[in-house]
Amino acid sequence: MTGTHKLDLLNNSISYFREAVAYAQHETLETKHWKFAIVHVVQAMELAFKERLRRIHPTFIYENIDRGDRTVTLRAALARLRNPKIGNMPISDAEANKIEKAFELRNQLTHFEFDHLREHIELKFAEIFSFMIFFYRLHLSLDTSEFIDEDQHARIIKLVRARAELMARALEYMKSRGHLTVWCCPSCVEDMFVVEEQQCCFCHHKESIVECPSCGTESFESDLEDISDEFEYSMDEGVMRLENDYGMERVACPECVGRMREKIEDLRREHYYDHLAMEEYYASEPRRG
Ligand SMILES: [Zn+2]
Ligand SMILES: [Zn+2]
Repeated sequence: MTGTHKLDLLNNSISYFREAVAYAQHETLETKHWKFAIVHVVQAMELAFKERLRRIHPTFIYENIDRGDRTVTLRAALARLRNPKIGNMPISDAEANKIEKAFELRNQLTHFEFDHLREHIELKFAEIFSFMIFFYRLHLSLDTSEFIDEDQHARIIKLVRARAELMARALEYMKSRGHLTVWCCPSCVEDMFVVEEQQCCFCHHKESIVECPSCGTESFESDLEDISDEFEYSMDEGVMRLENDYGMERVACPECVGRMREKIEDLRREHYYDHLAMEEYYASEPRRG
């Protein structure tokens, strides 16, 4: 059983990796190929993580080590590899963040319509690709020739270098503009999002910066959470009508949301006790008649 797993994980990882590389090499502007390249390289990464865990101990590839049925998710595998008592791998928070983002992107690409910029996908691919080369060599002790052909390697390296150049250019741009407020971009996860321009100067992701209606703090529009599911509604001939919004806006920043949900919970409980007290009052009132 262990023997087959060994072959499956590593060989499957490498064959996904090779397919990813093949897709990335299509000399075409079609985004479809990049989508497949990402999906395959992330799959290769997931399997490589499991292979690394298997080499530490075969049970580590299972989500629940007592049961040994389902294998770990990529996120859990990453956590085990970084755990000093298990994998003890030096993966920084920033890198782990990028891996998780790539994983999310893979899921988006698999399940939703394709609406990402080609450049963004290329960059993501270059990122995971470089990480995987390092991972195969350093942590799975493979020789480069075992997972990629030399000329393919050279071509993709060019792509990776293009990424480094883009990064250098973006940094230069920021320097030339002087005092800019820079946030971590939710799309490329680089500290390149220029708040004043509402755009990332690296991956060109655009997003509105909005104020939280509750506390006024500025944040990404996509960070605001909708709390209207907490409001009270009634059904009127199949039409949902808002009955009580507890005097709150529909959206708020993540910091405010927790507080607001609690507040609504309190108000709801208060209404409930008022209601109970009312019923008791009417029940105890002597009936006239
Ligand atoms: Zn960005
Ligand atoms: Zn707020």
